[in-house]
Amino acid sequence: MKTTIIGYPRIGNLRELKFASEKYFRGEITAAELEKTAKEIRAYDLELQKKSGLDIIPSNDFSFYDGVLDTAFLLNAVPERYTALGLSKLDTYFAAARGYQGKNGDVKALAMKKWYNTNYHYMVPEIDDSTEISLTGTKPFDLFKEALEKGVNTKPVIIGAYTFLKLARYKGCKQAADFAEQTAAAYSEILTKFNELGAEWVQFDEPSLVKDMSAEDVQLFVSLYEKILPAKGYVKVLVQTYFGDVRDCYNELCGLAADGIGLDFTEGKKSIELISKNGFPNDKTLFAGVVNGKNIWRNNYASTLSIIDELKKHTSDIVLNTSCSLLHVPCTLANETKLDENYKKHFAYAEEKLAELEEIRKIIASEQPLTTEEYRRNAELHSKPRSGRNDAVREKVAKLTEKDFVRLPEFAERERIQKERFRLPLFPTTTIGSFPQTAEVKSARKAFRKGEMSENDYESFIKDKIAECITQQEGIGLDVLVHGEFERNDMVEYFGECLDGYIFTEKAWVQSYGTRCVKPPVVWGDISRAKPMTVTWSVYAQSLTDKPMKGMLTGPVTILNWSFPREDITLKESALQIALAIREEVLDLEANGISIIQVDEAALREKLPLRKADWREDYLDWAIPAFRCVHSGVRPETQIHTHMCYSEFADIIRDIDDMDADVITFEASRSDLTILDVLKENKFRTEVGPGVYDIHSPRVPSKEEIKAAISKMKERIPAEKLWINPDCGLKTRGNTETVPSLINLVNAAREARNENC
Ligand code: GLN
Ligand code: ZN
Repeated sequence: MKTTIIGYPRIGNLRELKFASEKYFRGEITAAELEKTAKEIRAYDLELQKKSGLDIIPSNDFSFYDGVLDTAFLLNAVPERYTALGLSKLDTYFAAARGYQGKNGDVKALAMKKWYNTNYHYMVPEIDDSTEISLTGTKPFDLFKEALEKGVNTKPVIIGAYTFLKLARYKGCKQAADFAEQTAAAYSEILTKFNELGAEWVQFDEPSLVKDMSAEDVQLFVSLYEKILPAKGYVKVLVQTYFGDVRDCYNELCGLAADGIGLDFTEGKKSIELISKNGFPNDKTLFAGVVNGKNIWRNNYASTLSIIDELKKHTSDIVLNTSCSLLHVPCTLANETKLDENYKKHFAYAEEKLAELEEIRKIIASEQPLTTEEYRRNAELHSKPRSGRNDAVREKVAKLTEKDFVRLPEFAERERIQKERFRLPLFPTTTIGSFPQTAEVKSARKAFRKGEMSENDYESFIKDKIAECITQQEGIGLDVLVHGEFERNDMVEYFGECLDGYIFTEKAWVQSYGTRCVKPPVVWGDISRAKPMTVTWSVYAQSLTDKPMKGMLTGPVTILNWSFPREDITLKESALQIALAIREEVLDLEANGISIIQVDEAALREKLPLRKADWREDYLDWAIPAFRCVHSGVRPETQIHTHMCYSEFADIIRDIDDMDADVITFEASRSDLTILDVLKENKFRTEVGPGVYDIHSPRVPSKEEIKAAISKMKERIPAEKLWINPDCGLKTRGNTETVPSLINLVNAAREARNENC
């Protein structure tokens, strides 16, 4: 059995590409120097994969910024505003990726969107009626040749025609199907070129096939490939899917003249069933995604073997594969020098996953697989329970009953009680939590972490910052205050560090977008709250003011979604464990006199399943209850807020209302407040603070602008349900723009208030 992977991380083991790119952006190195770093990373990765024994090694999985953007440039789908700048090829590419402001002009970047159900973001190609899709780029061919010179006939990886057309944004009247002809022609040409170059396999990535497909979608997909595939000549074409199963087009996929089909057996719920029921065509190779490309745990060889056994009943032509590109896991465990071996032995990052594929191959090839050394070792690792079991927590989760998810009295009664208690003015003003994390704050935290600043000094530094922040907010005239979150580096990491059951890595960086990487913490064991996490800071902050001070927490779903989750228990169970820990904190804050508590669910929407049919059962049915569990124990007069970093929740609006918070703030300014109509139509019950200005931009919104936003809001939402706030936390902003922005916000709210009387 042969082995392959869908793609390898491209940032370099120690994020070399990120640092080189950023240097290039700052003008500190030349394009040639950046290219040199890129070439070194590719050479290193190629050598590594070769040594690991991988049979089919991918190429063109490298990218300076993003693979979808690369494809847009390959296919001539580049908006004129970028080419018109007259920059070099590389700089035109970076202009589309990051925007450009300089002597050649001033243009914004292309839009960025989340890549399916991952934390990676891709650049959205823009296509207008004048776009002519044609093969104009050479990158896949150049990189193929580069590897060929090193003696490797690689498998070039390119976003497939269907997925490309589905991901693009259409600016004119023409839609995806109108570009099918041109696109198919360009892809045919790609195959012709690879045929000339002598490539053995070409991989077209078609993750959009795992989403809900209409009959027209299936038709578009089939018609594209019917036009593309005749050009393949001697090249074998692999149609690669990932992040789910292809239930809407399995038979059509099998009917194509492709040579390989790549299916995901870790996230594809129905992948096995599809094959068992329909069989697998005997003229094609099955690329079986059995090694999880999204998580960091060691593969369980016993379950992998049972999948392979089932598949073997239907085909003998199988290539072992990862479930998706390894882009979504860190590069190598070799750099985790501080992590204890007892943890490390359970982990497999990208490099270790290569070794796993090799071991699985070896086990399968053996006459007696179960007696191989590799199998035995793996079985032993998985047979022993990991440390980190907490029976008390498990029991608590098991004992949860209906009433733990229901807050009483019901919303309207609480709303009345709270209006009575807080006596806030109409259109109360507040912020989302964090205040600017200035260089001073960051360097104090760094010094404290390094042991250069004592705990006492650090604490009094934070206290000073809190006091300063409160004086500032009182001066501005905000109604509900925050402490500023100066003690936090990150809204998930901070809580992870305070919770038992979490562990942290040193170098487990994963690309989030472009040069930005994240280092998700790992849910290692059962989660519990070791000690109060925020109470001291909130209580101190409240002691400095007569205005209500919001306690500030991150919710269970967001904490889980921004971590590497466990695979030995369900997500639901992990979420409930975290919910119980946060619930303790909520009750502690309440007991210590905090009257308003905000539980951020910034990332609630992120892991919504790709198929609508799976939304409820696989996600919302536990995610919403997990949130409710966090606050169901508070008194009616305690006000629960939540915050979300987006406004695309039209399709889950009922579920959001069902979280049963008292107030929700969210991003709305960038989407032109379109969400307001949806709130109105659905008679949204929760009080709302649709962000009145965009904190992602350094500009200061005028009072008039904010008033205009308030007027729009008033037309659709009952005035007594409206809150006035920015659309997210202010930590990435500076004080110079934050203070005037908030002054304008408060003045706008005041004027709106007066006009309403
Ligand atoms: N309370 C957090 C903050 O203000 C929320 C951040 C977020 O929504 N991403 O920073
Ligand atoms: Zn936010």
